[in-house]
Amino acid sequence: MGGKVDSSINKGNAPYIFKLSGQNYHSMGSLLPTPGSRPKFCQLYIYDTENEISNRSTSIGGPTSASTSTSISYDLQIIEFLKVMLDSNNVLVKSYRMVAALIVGDISDSVEKRDIVVQTSSGLLQRISELHPSYLALQYPLLFPYGDDGYRVDILHRGITSSSNSKRPTCTMREFFAYRIQDRDQSFSLLLNAKRLFQQFLVDGYTMIESERLFFIRKQQKILRCESYEKLRNHQALGSTDISNVGQRVILPSSFTGGARYMMQNYLDAMSLCKWFGYPDFFITFTCNPKWPEVQRFLKDTPLHPEDRPDILCRLFKIKLDAFIKDLRKNKIFGTVQAGMYVYIHTPTISLIANFYPICIILCALVYTIEFQKRGLPHSHICLFLHADCKLPTVEYIDPYISAEIPNINEDPELYSLVREFMIHGPCGAENFNCPCMVDRKCSKNFPKQFCNHTSVDSNGFPLYRRRNDGNVVGKSGVQLDNRNVVPYNKYLLKRYQAHINVEWCNQGSSIKYLFKYINKGPDRATFAMVQNNNDSDNNDAVDEIKEYYDCRYISACEASWRIFKYDVHYRYPAVIRLPFHLPGQQVIYEADDDIEDVLDRPSVASSMFTSWMKCNEINVEARKLTYVEFPTKFVWKPKLLIWKPREVGYSIGRIHPVSPKLGEAYFLRILLNKVKGPKSFEEIRTVNGEICSSFKDACYNLGLLDDDKEYIDAIKEASLSRSGYYLRFLFATMLLSNSLSKPESVWENTWEYLSDGILYTQQQRLKSPALSLNEDQIKNLTLFEIEQILLRNNTSLKNYRRMPYPDDDSVSSSNNRLITEELDYDIPNLKNEFDRLFVSLTDEQRNIFLDIMTTVKDNKGGVFFIYGYGGTGKTFLWKTISAAIRSEGEIVLNVASSGIASLLLTGGRTAHSRFIIPINLNEDSYCRINPDSDLANLVRKTSLIIWDEAPMVH
Ligand SMILES: [Zn+2]
Repeated sequence: MGGKVDSSINKGNAPYIFKLSGQNYHSMGSLLPTPGSRPKFCQLYIYDTENEISNRSTSIGGPTSASTSTSISYDLQIIEFLKVMLDSNNVLVKSYRMVAALIVGDISDSVEKRDIVVQTSSGLLQRISELHPSYLALQYPLLFPYGDDGYRVDILHRGITSSSNSKRPTCTMREFFAYRIQDRDQSFSLLLNAKRLFQQFLVDGYTMIESERLFFIRKQQKILRCESYEKLRNHQALGSTDISNVGQRVILPSSFTGGARYMMQNYLDAMSLCKWFGYPDFFITFTCNPKWPEVQRFLKDTPLHPEDRPDILCRLFKIKLDAFIKDLRKNKIFGTVQAGMYVYIHTPTISLIANFYPICIILCALVYTIEFQKRGLPHSHICLFLHADCKLPTVEYIDPYISAEIPNINEDPELYSLVREFMIHGPCGAENFNCPCMVDRKCSKNFPKQFCNHTSVDSNGFPLYRRRNDGNVVGKSGVQLDNRNVVPYNKYLLKRYQAHINVEWCNQGSSIKYLFKYINKGPDRATFAMVQNNNDSDNNDAVDEIKEYYDCRYISACEASWRIFKYDVHYRYPAVIRLPFHLPGQQVIYEADDDIEDVLDRPSVASSMFTSWMKCNEINVEARKLTYVEFPTKFVWKPKLLIWKPREVGYSIGRIHPVSPKLGEAYFLRILLNKVKGPKSFEEIRTVNGEICSSFKDACYNLGLLDDDKEYIDAIKEASLSRSGYYLRFLFATMLLSNSLSKPESVWENTWEYLSDGILYTQQQRLKSPALSLNEDQIKNLTLFEIEQILLRNNTSLKNYRRMPYPDDDSVSSSNNRLITEELDYDIPNLKNEFDRLFVSLTDEQRNIFLDIMTTVKDNKGGVFFIYGYGGTGKTFLWKTISAAIRSEGEIVLNVASSGIASLLLTGGRTAHSRFIIPINLNEDSYCRINPDSDLANLVRKTSLIIWDEAPMVH
């Protein structure tokens, strides 16, 4: 196996965990050891076979390390026994020795004539296919001592005789692994008893399944390209024959569980539940308990520990979680029926609340995600949405549901021991600096908390639970801990499920985004982001989402078995139906990219879901009472028939894929789809009061769906009292940039007098004519020109706002593309002099670099140079010389730097972020949004050279 095994996790005395990060390769090493090193792995079968046994024992630990540590010494008899056993039973070992013996004895002769590629002692690894039937047996000779076959692509499902008459006749790799890791009554499974090797087998198996899927996705990239046809056409019109760099991205579709798009879609689904049901009320974390009595019972007569059977832990956790969700959905949350029993009559106040507030909770929605802890155990984050009638009105009602106190040992000994076992945080802090919660010598979870006599809510909206100083303590690791160290829990749930179940109240809007981000943050993701830019070279690949996925992946044995069993990673109740839509006559469908097989088989499905909604409106009266987004509550989509049918059972809600306001009409169509009931055609969608509007935007405006920008007008007026005209223009440009204005032209008409503040004065100064007067049109024109400057600096233009007036070309400098004129606006004779002066001062080394780069630029060869040198070695000097050389020829050089300070050092320097629109907040979906036909793109095309100072600082 060639992945990165994360061994840092196995420090300390906790059970062994096998964890892998990044991509997994399967390789075969060379047949002979590199000179000087000892033989290992398959080399042992060939090298010095007389001494094979001692070679074997030295290769894994060996005498060198045995001298320092006494714990490693291997039983030579066992090794001898295993060798004999494998030699006599394993066909693969037999044939391997034979082939190897042939080759080794014959190595100087014509090896290349054989049909086997042999690496003798190069030390390089060679990749072998995981799909080879003998692969597993070769990788795990001890698990498959008879060398039996592993997965092959053509295993038929049971009962299927030929591969033609069924949709999916053959067994998938996932099914194969799921089959192999079952216990069977009549047979002993060596695999399931292999402990650490079994963990490795699970991870290995899962990475094989995943890489097979990812390989398939990589092959389908052409189909997944989601750039609109219109853009492609534009690009072709520009004379470009190679359209492959439009929208150049390797896409990992949202149907791929665990990928970034998948996570985003689930986040949006969860947010749409919020739209329907309001904020969630409870946030519950349910963690797998490896000491559950069921696990103990199962392992009772075996030498195994819970961590040796991650598959069993996962299955049991899934069973318990399902039961838990069933409890919740049957409205028995927190023991509704017996809830009274669990409201402890400690004090009169609580019993009063219990009487006043009958405990009946009706659940309307829930969402959960499965995650795997650092040590691999699964846990689930659950958000509960209560019916509006049962929401807890104030914090006083929390106490019966959530407790953060140690119960009295005499009153409820069972609960006491459960709290002690599962719900006590720590000891951490001064008592135990090695506690995993400790970050910078402080508890990252802020334990111990403060004592507090009543439950309340802090200024950030987070609840502070009651923790009375009542003298109840528990001992843990020799430390006495009190109510300040209790993790909030629910008594009923804790007793019923006997695991760490943290219950938190969350009725505050401020915490909701944090919460959903948290539960949807995706699998263990490294926090760095690498962006590969596509600016300086065309053959450089743009963002590869599959690669990014691999780079951030960690897989433990538990997660591997969870995924091999195909258990849900996300769950929502009710279901959220993702509704696609598109503009009339357009091919681009605004929806989450569909399941890849579906896209391949039926490209028209997504569009027909939208159009057949309108068809359904024609025939069904009931349908006309609903908007598109409400439609799934009463109707069911039948994907096979491509029609909507009235819903008979169940309930689900709809969600329309969000689109950026920059997309214009699509954005406004989406707003209308949330409002308009029962339209039968696109015309009807934009019909307001019997009148067909010319655009979806106008329809939105006529319906009063868009704010009437009055607040923005007021904001500009208000700011004009204290701020400069430049600031006001900047403010207006920012409003345009953020697309928050529904009718920018009306804001402009209402505020231009404020926005033009100072324009006249500047013009008087510039033309050195203090008596200059300008008419209204001239002032407007100059003001618009100034605003356009601000927009251009942010890579957009007034042209992008359809109804905004555009400054007169005469007053705007000669060319339409301000960016290019700006870059060409240098005093060439001056620059030539400067260049001559700079060039003679170059050192030999600098001169060589200069000549190399200039030759490449002049021959238009294209290429990337990376110049590395310590501070003060004259890099900036070199940049200036090169810039002067190229600019004095009338060509364009873009000087950018990763930091603002460095960019100031360069003539015409800009930060790379502003120049190439690199998003500020980088995530796995980030890329530079440069439209192929924008001014910026034209600038980049005309550019001869980009000098990027401090390039490695971009991260
Ligand atoms: Zn702590």
